[in-house]
Amino acid sequence: MDLKEQVLNTLSSAPYIGAREIAERHSLTVEELNHAYKAIQTSEECQKRLLTSINRDYFETVREYFGKELYTVIFFVGLGCPYRCPFCPSVTIEKDGYRKLAKFRKGPGDRKLEYRDFEKIFADIEQMQKKGIIVEVKISGGLEPYTDPETVNWILELASRQNVDSTIFTNGVLLRDPKNREIALKSDKLRISLGTVSEEAYADEYFGEHPRNKRSNSLGDLQKTIRQLVQDRNDSGAATAIGMNTVVGEFNFHELEQVVLDAHDFGVDYIAIKGDYFKQKDDEWFDKVETATAAISGHTRDGKIGDMRVILTGSQERSSFLNSSLQGKCLPIDQAMRQMFIDPFGQCTPVHCWAFPVQEKEQERHTTSLNEHTGLQKIIEKTNDFPLIDYSKLNPFELIISLESERQRQDLAFGVERDCNPYISPHNVSNPDSLNFRSFCNC
Ligand code: SF4
Repeated sequence: MDLKEQVLNTLSSAPYIGAREIAERHSLTVEELNHAYKAIQTSEECQKRLLTSINRDYFETVREYFGKELYTVIFFVGLGCPYRCPFCPSVTIEKDGYRKLAKFRKGPGDRKLEYRDFEKIFADIEQMQKKGIIVEVKISGGLEPYTDPETVNWILELASRQNVDSTIFTNGVLLRDPKNREIALKSDKLRISLGTVSEEAYADEYFGEHPRNKRSNSLGDLQKTIRQLVQDRNDSGAATAIGMNTVVGEFNFHELEQVVLDAHDFGVDYIAIKGDYFKQKDDEWFDKVETATAAISGHTRDGKIGDMRVILTGSQERSSFLNSSLQGKCLPIDQAMRQMFIDPFGQCTPVHCWAFPVQEKEQERHTTSLNEHTGLQKIIEKTNDFPLIDYSKLNPFELIISLESERQRQDLAFGVERDCNPYISPHNVSNPDSLNFRSFCNC
């Protein structure tokens, strides 16, 4: 096996390993390693192999966020949520089964962000764009964005004016209102979470059984809403890509195949299937995922059913490095250089675990307040004062950003040349399963 092949195999299975360790494992000098990295970087075949490997999420994220300088601003605009998902970071399940939802709270001197605040944020985004950074916005998690449709509308209009790509993550319930659907179709992408075909499982999973947790929607209602949204999109000629997001777990292993077939029937453009990343998974869990996905594969051709793409995130695969419980701590600034969360009261933070509204763990939230004197750039710099975060608290995207930032620092110190990153290639190879897999809330 030639040198390039040996190094490529090691990187494919452990993409975060630094140059020193690679050199030691393969008995290479710095010059030989630079040569091997350059050969991998400039080979279209090698790039394709990385982007279709088990650890494809890593390589894809590095290409986008370090290669193209992508930056994501995530607006957590929701003020409430009709659901009470057991896997939601904003939900606490009490002893009697009551599912309590945390809400964002106003800090001293805080006020809810107004239109002029969003104009200011987008002025800061424009400055970033002028420096060549590609900025995208996500309207996501925390709580359900459509509990504040006016703010969703402001963000989408400002994003569109500035050519900023926009994605909405929603549970879809409030899209039953035609005005909300009209707003939704101003986005570039919209992803609705749904993981079951059974009314009973829908009620149990998303609302719970406690009488104080009101079941305000039925599965039938939501299915009707999704069909109507697709219809509205087709009638209006809007370019919004509509997808479904399905979290896999014990409650839906047995019906995953039908969830995918239903999604196709609704007319959505894709379905993304992913595991609850923070749940401990054993071999039995992976066996069930493999059985379910094998059944789905029976309906797909080139990863599609008709025109609908079926996307299985790499993090669900048994031997993905994301399932190897890596130990370590992350510098918050590494995250702040790639993403920033902004809550309804202008509190900003670079990691998802500090972005959600919390109940009794309030002290664990580290944020900086956006105001007249503190714009996005200042906020990014201020994260240098935040404490280190344990890897176990990061979502897959954040873990990749942290590992790659550290890998690049170590490589430079070891003598790897700046233009020899094996993952940042001039070849425009793309992963057909590319999902932009990150999503912060499981909803
Ligand atoms: S996961 Fe999303 S849909 Fe579920 S309770 Fe949390 S915010 Fe609501």
